[in-house]
Amino acid sequence: MSVSESAIAAAEAHSAHNYHPLPVVVASAEGAWMTDVEGRRYLDMLAGYSALNFGHGNRRLIDAAKTQLERVTLTSRAFYHDRFADFCEQLAELCGMESVLPMNTGAEAVETAVKTARKWGYRVKGVVDNMAKIVVASNNFHGRTTTVISFSTDPDARADFGPYTPGFEIVPYGDLTAMEAALTENTVAVLLEPIQGEAGVLVPPPGYLAGVRRLTQERNVLFIADEIQSGLGRTGRTFALEHEGVVPDMYVLGKALGGGVVPVSAVVSSQEVLGVYRPGEHGSTFGGNPLACAVALEVIAMLRTGEYQQRATELGEHLHHELGLLTGTGVVEAVRGRGLWAGVDIAPRHGTGREISEKLMDRGVLVKDTHGSTIRIAPPLVISKEDLDWGLDQLRAVLTD
Ligand code: PLP
Repeated sequence: MSVSESAIAAAEAHSAHNYHPLPVVVASAEGAWMTDVEGRRYLDMLAGYSALNFGHGNRRLIDAAKTQLERVTLTSRAFYHDRFADFCEQLAELCGMESVLPMNTGAEAVETAVKTARKWGYRVKGVVDNMAKIVVASNNFHGRTTTVISFSTDPDARADFGPYTPGFEIVPYGDLTAMEAALTENTVAVLLEPIQGEAGVLVPPPGYLAGVRRLTQERNVLFIADEIQSGLGRTGRTFALEHEGVVPDMYVLGKALGGGVVPVSAVVSSQEVLGVYRPGEHGSTFGGNPLACAVALEVIAMLRTGEYQQRATELGEHLHHELGLLTGTGVVEAVRGRGLWAGVDIAPRHGTGREISEKLMDRGVLVKDTHGSTIRIAPPLVISKEDLDWGLDQLRAVLTD
């Protein structure tokens, strides 16, 4: 048995099988490259589902973390600490908003957004107690907690986890008429991904997100944008909603906010909305901890330069141009996405998404499949054009084998 095989066998023997990883055991990583336990190198074209937008081992992030590790790592919110105010102020400013509620994981931040919208509905909008409704889209992915999977349309995510949390209405993604019909006086929020990542990088029709903004404004409904995967540079803008000129009432952020170093998530909104909380009504032991704030502050500083958004735009144009050529030859059925982010539907005769991912792995490229024949491409934004081209060469080779 190889070193990799025995590591995989031990992992399978002693862990729950809630994932189906590719058979690679990573030991170290730098920039856009990972090295496995046997010294093989792989180009990372997934970037931790966009948590690693700034690359592996990013010097600025590692230095910020190391410095903070030596100072103080956790106070809990029982006390203030000296990185908290800067983090909240600078994140609010990056979002063009006023107030921040920090959490750790994406699902936790979505839960927080749901709770916040309900509380706002009762306290500010005047919805009758326990009647609040939140409208969500089909094929959404917002995390794995019980409430969040209650409004999933994916049978695998839901089966055997009931009873489900009520208070959600699901409408088809991209359908403004259905959205309009779903809004009632009890609707407190619409919760959407501006681009649906897990669903296969689905970009809604032009005008949809602006239409949702108009409807929610007219009906006094909060527009909650889950930018956990789409935000923080991936699409070429700080937020994917910017492409449509839309500003939501609430951003839900995660993944890249912690730079792939520590889990950091947050809900960012107005004083009116986040001002509904009183002490004791919500919280998290690790939410807003000093280490998380120190790393996130560096992430915010990097995003303020606009450099990463620019790279995502330029490399993204190149990526989509090259993938477009593959569509022309028929090996690829469709390509969707924005910036350095693509969902690629492979013609089924070339194999499932899983088979393509395994063949790419054998050629030193790591991607991950979703929904049958789709693979997702989302390399770290620090990838060089040469490395991206090399990765695309491997994809071409796999598809023309
Ligand atoms: N929301 C979106 C849009 C996501 O893509 C994800 C994760 O993929 C989540 C929420 C959940 O984040 P986490 O896995 O950190 O709980």
